[in-house]
Amino acid sequence: MSDLASLMPPLDETNRPYWEGLRARVIRLPRCEACGRFRLHDTRYCPHCGSDRSEWATLSGRGRLWARCVFHQVYFEAFRDRVPYGVVIVELEEGVRVYSNLTGTENTMDVPIGAALEAEFEAISDDATLLKFRPA
Ligand SMILES: [Zn+2]
Repeated sequence: MSDLASLMPPLDETNRPYWEGLRARVIRLPRCEACGRFRLHDTRYCPHCGSDRSEWATLSGRGRLWARCVFHQVYFEAFRDRVPYGVVIVELEEGVRVYSNLTGTENTMDVPIGAALEAEFEAISDDATLLKFRPA
């Protein structure tokens, strides 16, 4: 098991469709049944209308770079050997913003804010696949 796989949360009904989606190489998130907007899987109530009703739906995997930085500090022991590494916030086409890392570039800071990105899926164990993005 990779050191990163040790950071995986226990799966339950609130996150299983998300992590199983990544294993199947798609992004699945809850879509609000009241207003139709997507939200993160660890959010019980819709941040837009407050409803707790949602259904799982598949997103396009396309987005734009919303923010980027480089971590020089060891915030997680499992990442010690990777420092320094880039961390980004991607605004998906459907409006949700997710934390991730970029692939396909030597330096995260070289990719301009607003750049078109597409999802990539990195399997780190039999059970765990991470969501990454590359310039489209
Ligand atoms: Zn809503």
